[in-house]
Amino acid sequence: MTQTINEQLFEKAKRHIAGGVNSPVRAFAGVGGTPVFVARAKGAYIYDTEDHAYIDYVGSWGPMILGHAHDDVITAVKQAAEDGLSFGAPTPSETTMADLIASIVPSIELVRMVSSGTEATMSAIRLARGYTGRDKIVKFEGCYHGHSDSLLVKAGSGMLDIGEPTSKGVPADFAKHTLTLPYNDIDALKACFEKFGDTLACVILEPIAGNMNMVIPSQEFQQTLRTLCTEHGVVLIFDEVMTGFRVALGGAQSHFGITPDLTTFGKIIGAGLPVGAFGGKREIMECIAPLGGVYQAGTLSGNPLAMRAGKAMFDKLTQDGFYDELTAKTEYLVKGLKDAAAKHGVAFQACSVGGMFGVFFSDSLPQNFNDVATKCDAKKFAKFFHAMLDEGVYLAPSAFEAAFMSSAHSYEDLDKTIMAADKVFASL
Ligand SMILES: *Cc1c(COP(=O)(O)O)cnc(C)c1O
Repeated sequence: MTQTINEQLFEKAKRHIAGGVNSPVRAFAGVGGTPVFVARAKGAYIYDTEDHAYIDYVGSWGPMILGHAHDDVITAVKQAAEDGLSFGAPTPSETTMADLIASIVPSIELVRMVSSGTEATMSAIRLARGYTGRDKIVKFEGCYHGHSDSLLVKAGSGMLDIGEPTSKGVPADFAKHTLTLPYNDIDALKACFEKFGDTLACVILEPIAGNMNMVIPSQEFQQTLRTLCTEHGVVLIFDEVMTGFRVALGGAQSHFGITPDLTTFGKIIGAGLPVGAFGGKREIMECIAPLGGVYQAGTLSGNPLAMRAGKAMFDKLTQDGFYDELTAKTEYLVKGLKDAAAKHGVAFQACSVGGMFGVFFSDSLPQNFNDVATKCDAKKFAKFFHAMLDEGVYLAPSAFEAAFMSSAHSYEDLDKTIMAADKVFASL
């Protein structure tokens, strides 16, 4: 059988790139088959090397909230490039970005820019440890916080046991400082604080989980977590790398009305360029160098291209009604998909907040990682994924990832997507 162009490109890529990809989920291991190699993108669409168009609900895993190659963002990047790519010295655009973030997210009193979400979470955890003088941290099963050593950890065999690495190369000596709890489980949270509360540096949470498909926690869970952290002097870190400026302008913390001590950002704030940030309470943030003894640095941190692209994007996000329109589009699509599935008797669930949504081949909406892993039909998702791809709709190539709406998606695009799903559901 002759190879498709994508198969040929994947073969070539594998010659000198490990696995042919520079981030594992791109390899399509979760759904089988060959990745689509992207040549260009505009608005709601990505185009492969043969110019096949796909309506894109990945959006570079979140950043492209204005759609791809938005004219104003591209202009800002071009102008910034003319002025020089990087200086390793302060620029006014970094102050503009910091002021913007602080004005939008009230919990941010001081902020530090970095170059990725991984860097943001890793640095926030070091900061929490430095501030509290404690080593232990808590994370939740199914939440992803980038790939630093302390965070590639799962629960040990017993409840409240010490953590075990989820990756080779992570020393057990590092993992033992990380406790992993089930998401959305108030009893487990209380038991953990009872036993370890006064020895914990921080708890890190995706305040809406977007890396185990999408799971929305209960208000009570978040409130209990906030209260326990305050009582025990534990730094509460909201990892809003995905949810920040995505589920609402002020992120999940504004959606739920919960104030974390530190927040990490990434994805959207760079409008598609490599960026992350962490920030929060002044008293804690003052512990980082050069003000304090917690070391953190970056050659390309606060890169002028990324700052100026982000500024151009924020000019759109802060316009009246932006998130109302985005939310309405997401809800329209999710309802259309659910109705189509119901028509064909397919067990299908979906949820959404703002410009983020999750779809599940399941009888009920998952509440935690175990539900996503055991109650959802990943095989059916893989079939759905490939059939949708054939219809010109690009979803995340994994049943464990969320999906993203952009302001560039038109109702015509959404109707096309729903019609494609209707056809595919009938064939499942
Ligand atoms: C994507 C993501 C990260 C990691 O960000 P990178 O820029 O890929 O390093 C961390 N936390 C969450 C919640 C994310 O979604």
